[in-house]
Amino acid sequence: MEFRDYYKVLGVERNATAAQIKSAYRKLARKHHPDVNPGNKGAENKFKEINEAYQVLSDPEKRKKYDLLGADWERGAPEDEVLRRYARAGADSGAMGGGGFSDFFERFFGGLGGGFPGGGRSARGAAGFDFADDIGGGFRTPRSMGKAPDLEAEVRITLQEAIHGTKKRIDFVAHDECDVCGGSGIVTREQKRGNARVIRSAEPCSKCSGAGVIQQRRQLEVTIPPGMTEGSRMRLKGQGGRGPRPELNGDLFLNVRFEPNSVFTVSGRDVRCLLPVWDYEAALGAEVTAPTPDGRVSLKIPPGSQSGRVLRLKGHGLPARGKDPVGDLLYELKVLAPTDLTDEERDLMQQFAERRRARAVADPRADLMRG
Ligand SMILES: [Zn+2]
Repeated sequence: MEFRDYYKVLGVERNATAAQIKSAYRKLARKHHPDVNPGNKGAENKFKEINEAYQVLSDPEKRKKYDLLGADWERGAPEDEVLRRYARAGADSGAMGGGGFSDFFERFFGGLGGGFPGGGRSARGAAGFDFADDIGGGFRTPRSMGKAPDLEAEVRITLQEAIHGTKKRIDFVAHDECDVCGGSGIVTREQKRGNARVIRSAEPCSKCSGAGVIQQRRQLEVTIPPGMTEGSRMRLKGQGGRGPRPELNGDLFLNVRFEPNSVFTVSGRDVRCLLPVWDYEAALGAEVTAPTPDGRVSLKIPPGSQSGRVLRLKGHGLPARGKDPVGDLLYELKVLAPTDLTDEERDLMQQFAERRRARAVADPRADLMRG
């Protein structure tokens, strides 16, 4: 009998994590799936090989035994001894034909009920399979592969919604573990033989085409609390991919994005607005009406304000959240020169300029031309 290096088959290291193994398996299963390679015998064999390797390496108990087995094999222990050690109670070492598993697999892992020393009849089933007792030769699913994947989705909110909080219906593509094959991508048919359960065949799961996950659109109503910032993430526990049990559901990570706003920009919790003022308002000071995300506010422009001056309304930005304090509302002044002067206004402006020249006010460009 030939030793099968399942790690090599999946292209993973011997110390690969369960997640790495799962991911390698899925990639390969997709690539070599018979549906993708119709009539390709090589791909079909490869697909069987991958599934076999995954059956063993995805199951912690089986993997442990396989690792021990590998060590024995490497030190050149006689096959008889290896078999004795690992299938002592395993009178039933062979699955019945036509199952698509290698002799190696069927010898060591096929006789589910036969068990391995130490494998015994745990609550989870003899060799790590989770099966009901009433099998009777029907289809059943291998044990689940653990937690379903986390998912990401995006939600767009307006500035007002960010300030006050809101409820949003979000639409996303869920990657749920396939409930037919339990995420393994294969469905095995087995038979009871005495006390043993024997795998008779393994087929790619028809519901998920062997991928182990099913993509489906889901909608969810989400409460967005006040004070979420652009780019922040909300974690919705258990709302990601659905696992075999609720506690094995993945989480949904919701990325918060702001709708563009023509008046305000937001940086962190501060809300900014570019506020145009007339040159005479800037020079003389004025009380002007300025927009806020919620309405309007009366704003004092101090006399002598320059373009670029920032007026700050403390605490009128995004509300505090967690350790982050409330933001401010900032108005950056942009001083405008009038372009719609009447003749009279132009005359007045002219007189104003002459008086300035007469008393020789400082040249505003003098600093640029020093030295
Ligand atoms: Zn499936």
